[in-house]
Amino acid sequence: MTSEQISHTMTKPQSFIPIAKPLLGEAELEAVKRPLSSGWVTQGREVAAFEVEFAELVGAAHACAVSSCTAALHLALHVLGVSPGDEVITVSHSFIASANVIRYCGATPVFIDIEATGYNVDTRLLAEAITEKTKAIIAVHQLGMPCDLASILAVAAQNNIAVVEDAACALGSQIQRDGCWSNIGAPLGDIACFSFHPRKLITTGDGGMLTTNRSGLAERLGRLRQHGMDVNDRIRHASSQVINEHYSELGFNYRLTDIQAAIGREQLKRLPAMVQQRRALAVVYQAELSAIEGLGLPLEPDWARSNWQSYCVRLPAGVDQAQLMQLMLDAGVATRRGVMCIHREAAYRPGQWRCGSLGCCDGLKACGQLRHSEAAQAQSIILPLYVQMTKQEQLWVCNTLKGALQSLLERA
Ligand SMILES: *Cc1c(COP(=O)(O)O)cnc(C)c1O
Repeated sequence: MTSEQISHTMTKPQSFIPIAKPLLGEAELEAVKRPLSSGWVTQGREVAAFEVEFAELVGAAHACAVSSCTAALHLALHVLGVSPGDEVITVSHSFIASANVIRYCGATPVFIDIEATGYNVDTRLLAEAITEKTKAIIAVHQLGMPCDLASILAVAAQNNIAVVEDAACALGSQIQRDGCWSNIGAPLGDIACFSFHPRKLITTGDGGMLTTNRSGLAERLGRLRQHGMDVNDRIRHASSQVINEHYSELGFNYRLTDIQAAIGREQLKRLPAMVQQRRALAVVYQAELSAIEGLGLPLEPDWARSNWQSYCVRLPAGVDQAQLMQLMLDAGVATRRGVMCIHREAAYRPGQWRCGSLGCCDGLKACGQLRHSEAAQAQSIILPLYVQMTKQEQLWVCNTLKGALQSLLERA
């Protein structure tokens, strides 16, 4: 059967359609044999090679591998000097780690709203949120879609504020600046942070990476992720002289293992094809779903190329998110609620965060200034998207969504 015929018969796929599926195979199985058979399983050659290859791929001067993107973000703020009493501006409409790391440093998260249509920060709100306490901005490239970094960098430069990119989802995405395309992570801010959790583009089980063009920061990051040790394992093992290490500042154990790095190196090789395939799948979603009245499809600005880590759609007004997700689950299709709002979680009590709008709520739950964030959480869902997805599976998702919307709108 051709894909054309399949689209007409519209049979239910044999198996359940998950929200995401990592692409792991023989290459990764072979790769883990290297550290396992050599016996060198952490902070060895695989980690060093993964860092070099990663930096090269994104176009950064330096890369530092760590145990997660959360660890990466925490280290990034730490080396930029974020400390108690400081404020760091970011969005509430993000995974909770984007703000937790600010609190790990004893600083206060200052939340600003997202745009009415997309899922990224509304940069027009940035200037108002800045005070003399503002130390950094965490710019989130939400769901893989680049945020408006040019505007963020301009405001940051005017106010002498550091910029950390939360690029957890954005490996393989690109952004245009001064007419040139660059990879997210090049980096345009001070430091960019990536995640290798299975829900992201490439995976090492868990894992993360920082990239920077500032060599001083890179050296310090390399020490801090390994307890602050001043000499790395590779140098010590290669030396014919006895070397005793020293610890000049308080460090952390945020190491990535060589077993993970070996997998990561193979995953990196797959990345270009993965991005190409995800972009093709997004084109199909756009074509199949654009006719549905009231459904808001994600838009790619002309200065951005998304890796489509997630494909998030806004439901027509009056459609209940939970009911729709249940109907799709009943039809064998997994979905997820749109991105969360950090300020609505119990872990964020009044006083533990601040709203970026002047004279606003002082961290009370009913903050009217984060209304686009709250609306996006309530009215959007993420559809399945993974590189192994077949045409039949994708059309089944589209038809299931159409059918579910129709039945809910009829009921209303
Ligand atoms: C996944 C994610 C993180 C956390 O990444 P981990 O590797 O799980 O620590 C942080 N920020 C955003 C936006 C994410 O999507």
